[in-house]
Formats: sequence, structure tokens, C-alpha cells
Amino acid sequence: MVLVSRLVGRMAGMRPYLASAPAAMHDPVPGRLRVVVAGGGIAGASATVVLTERGIPVVVCEAAGRLGGHLGTHPRTLLDGTVPWIDHGLHGFFRQYYNWRQILRRISPGPAPLLHPLGSYSVISARWPDEQFDRLPPAPPLSILALAHRSLSLRLRELARADHAVGLSMLGFDADQTYAHLDQLSAEQLLAALRLLERARVMLFNVFAHSSFNDSASMSAAELVAMFHFYFLANPEGLGMDAPHADYYTPIWAPLRRYLEQRGVQIRTGTPVTAIDGNRPGHWRVHTGDTLTAEEEVLATHAGTAARILAASPRATASDQRLAAVAAQVRTGPPYAVARYWLDGDVRPERVPFTSIADPSVLDLVTLYHRFEAGARSWHERTGGSVVELHAYACPPGADATNLGATMLAELGRLWPDTRRLRQVDQYCQVGTDAAGFPVGGHATTPDVRTAVPGLILAGDWVATPFPSALTQRAAATGISAANTILAARGPRTEPVWSVPPRGILSRQRAAAMRRRPAQPAGVR
Ligand SMILES: Cc1cc2nc3c(=O)[nH]c(=O)nc-3n(C[C@H](O)[C@H](O)[C@H](O)COP(=O)(O)OP(=O)(O)OC[C@H]3O[C@@H](n4cnc5c(N)ncnc54)[C@H](O)[C@@H]3O)c2cc1C
Repeated sequence: MVLVSRLVGRMAGMRPYLASAPAAMHDPVPGRLRVVVAGGGIAGASATVVLTERGIPVVVCEAAGRLGGHLGTHPRTLLDGTVPWIDHGLHGFFRQYYNWRQILRRISPGPAPLLHPLGSYSVISARWPDEQFDRLPPAPPLSILALAHRSLSLRLRELARADHAVGLSMLGFDADQTYAHLDQLSAEQLLAALRLLERARVMLFNVFAHSSFNDSASMSAAELVAMFHFYFLANPEGLGMDAPHADYYTPIWAPLRRYLEQRGVQIRTGTPVTAIDGNRPGHWRVHTGDTLTAEEEVLATHAGTAARILAASPRATASDQRLAAVAAQVRTGPPYAVARYWLDGDVRPERVPFTSIADPSVLDLVTLYHRFEAGARSWHERTGGSVVELHAYACPPGADATNLGATMLAELGRLWPDTRRLRQVDQYCQVGTDAAGFPVGGHATTPDVRTAVPGLILAGDWVATPFPSALTQRAAATGISAANTILAARGPRTEPVWSVPPRGILSRQRAAAMRRRPAQPAGVR
């Protein structure tokens, strides 16, 4: 079935899409060039890899004590004396994350794979039977047909009742059209206009809205459609994820740092960039406590700090309205909570490693770390306990991490009564306020990698791309595109950037329907 699905998918155009082909523009321009990259997460590291491989001197300024950002890890001593590495809550990489995987190949060129498949995941609810997205055929259109056929949440009778024009706008993603027509609408409004029964709406679409770390009432409907396209409707690889099965420091960040330093990259951790200025184009002074000079500055911090840096850097925003908009209004999503519990016994064996809750009070995701991560597994084997991580997205502002953890654990007890008998050995709860936000109507002022300011380039999961992307894939794609922007002006060969097919499977039908009936219900145009 997998092979048939891939073959049919290829015939329908479902294959990796080369969004930017490698090219050498002209002979390299001689001259002094130094690039300062602010931020050492996936975006900053991806830009740095490509630049340093072309011989361009790079200084990376990273505010934290280690590289990694949201993919970072740190050691923590538990009450029982064990010292696991704790990550930030990122679990793995989908198979269409071509650009980040391309970067990882630099540190894992041999036959032993760095990434291994993660176990199964399901979507559960207190009200309706589970859904299993990862057991579908990998590629559209068979994956879509199989979902429509197998899903108990989607009956033919209901599909007939759905608003077909809205359905077409969801199945027919087109970067220009989708943002033009749907960005002024919230994800919640779009799903309501679809007129599916609550069960189908909740079980099939809520998870997509939640996993973007945004609240469907304030998130742009266009972003929801873009995510649905990127993760499901145009993804030729299926919904499986892979991860190193270990903490991210040992297999990823330690070798990546070595790879960069061996090529002469200066990595300054514990060095936050506070502002950038300069008195002529292409000559930046980057303030970090120290002042660094650079001809090109790649701003690859998360959205919140990028806004603060830009607000403190009037020269950088004066000639670019989108940068001025970022500086004027911090564009982060609502707070999210990640709580890890070490419990004194295991959950029932049939529980799968990842479980999304479709209609949560607070709890959005449950992850059983001891089922796949080496450190957690060895703790489980030694103690018989379990390592359970709970996530809540779109939390109220100012909520306390430990209280949120306790609320999520209580909700888990209602969903999985077997966990109520387990006692806590230790816990680690954190709240983050730094996820990228995609508000209604925000697309027009979301900046691209290339800005109107010479020598100032952006990268990160909050930066717009002209091709479908999200989260880690967007961070890596914008990082590589940032490097390409610098290379294209100077001559050396650029790096390919990959994506999924840029248009949805029904985009032609959608365009035709729009021509026939431009006005659509509930404000969906
Ligand atoms: C809880 C959680 C779970 C997630 N799970 C997944 C998942 O399973 N799959 C997936 O694809 N994505 C997931 N994501 C999203 C993913 O982690 C991000 O999309 C990705 O890591 C973003 O990378 P980035 O480089 O753009 O930003 P970041 O990772 O935020 O990196 C930015 C870096 O800039 C640094 N910085 C900040 N301020 C400054 C400053 N002033 N000067 C210098 N440096 C600075 C930060 O310390 C950080 O290292 C998850 C995110 C969260 C929060």
C-alpha cells in the first residue's frame, strides 16, 4: 500500500518541490565580508552552515549558554540523583522537513542513520473514538481518500452537508490566493463556515490549529489552510516523524558546533544581541555589550526578541514597513506549557508514544518519553517508572508553570484513569512565551527573508516564505534562504531549498469555483 500510494502520489504531482535551485550567479566578488548571525537555533545554524561552507566568515551570537533554541537541551539533576538532558518539548522531524534534514546530513554523512522513526500517535477525545492519522497511506490523494473512508468522524452524509466552496478553499491551497482570501478570517470562523458536525471539526482539524502554538480564535484561517496543506494535503512522505532517540545535544548540537568551529565560525554563547545600527548601508554595528562590525546581519532570533532588537534599532526599520510593523507589535503566539513528570510506574502498555487531545480543557499532547528516548528509557528500565511529558498550547497569560503542570496531570488522570495511581518522583514544568504568532490579518505585514534594508536579512519560523513551510522546516528553509540571499549578491553557488508542491490538489477547481461564485458564505471569499 505504501508503494502504491507513493506511485499514485507521484503521478498526481506529490513529490519534493525545488523551491530554489542551486545557482552560481557570477564569479565571486572579492572583498571583505563578515556576517554576524544573531540566534543559534535551527534558523541561525542553517544559515551559518551554508555560509561557512562557501568560505564566508561568520560570527554567531547566541543569547543562551548553548546552541539549539527550541531544539536545545540542558542537563538537570533529579531528586533521585539521575541527570537527564531535558529538551524544550520538540519531539521530532517530519519526513518532508527536507531542508533541516539536508543540514543534518552534514553531521551524519555515513550509513548509520541519525534519525529513527518515532512510534505511533493517535488523536483522542473524552467524547469520541480515537483517530489514527499515521496509519494512513503516506501520499495524497490516497491518504485523503483513506481518511475520508476510514475516519469515524467523517461520514458521507456529513460531507454532503458541508459547504463545498469552503471545502475547496481548504483543499486548494495557493500561496497568493489563500492569503488574499482567507487571512482576514480566523481559523475558528473558517472551520465553522465549513459546516461539518462538531465531532469532525474537533477530531480532524483542532489538532492542526493547536500544534501551530496558536489559538484558533485569533489565528489566521490562511495559516491553518497552509499548515493543513504542508502537513497533510501535499505531503508526499506521510505523517511519520523521526528523531535521534537521544537528547539533542549529543547527536546534533555537539557535532554541529564542531562542524562549524572546524570551518572557522566563531560561536559566542551567552551573548545576546541588543540592537544593530550603522551609519552607511552594509556597515552594521551589532551591539552585544561588545560591538561587532558586519557587512551582513542575519537576524535569526525568535519573533519576540527580533521585535525588541528591531525596536531598539531605528536605522534598521526606517526604510522597511514590515520591519517597522514587527518592531511595533511583538508577534508571538499565546503562552504554552511543557511539564515533564517522572512517575513511579508505567502507563498501560497499549498507550502509544504520542497522543493529541482533540478537545482539551488544557492538555493538548501527551508524550511517553520512556518509549523512545535513550535516557528516559534507561531510567524506566532501572526504576520501572515512566517519563511522561504534557503540553498545553494557547494558555492564559501569566499562568504559573507548576499549576499548569498539575492541571494537565489531573486532566490526564480523567482521560487515562490508569495514571491516577502513579506517584510523582520528580517534575520539571516550564512556560514559554516565544512561539511565533500568526494573527488574523497579519500576513500583509509579515516580513520575508530579504528585507528592504541592505545587509539585513531575517530567518526563523516566524518569517514568511513564498513556498509552503512551517515550524522547523520554515526555520531551516529561511536560514538557508538567508545564506542564499548573501551568496547570490556575492557570487558563490547557492544552496537548494526544497518544499512540498506549492499548490493544493484542488487548486484549479477552487480557482474555477471562485470565478463562478466569488462571494462565499460567512465572509469566506
Ligand atoms: C514546546 C514546543 C514543541 C515543539 N515541537 C515541535 C515539533 O515536534 N516539530 C516541529 O517541527 N517543531 C516543533 N516546535 C517548533 C520548533 O521548535 C521551532 O519552529 C524551531 O525550533 C524554531 O527555530 P528558530 O531557529 O526559528 O528559533 P529558536 O529555536 O527560537 O532559536 C532562536 C535562537 O535565538 C536565540 N536568541 C534569542 N534572543 C537573542 C538575542 N537577543 N541575541 C542572540 N540570540 C538570541 C535564542 O536563545 C535561540 O537559541 C516546537 C516548539 C515548541 C515551543
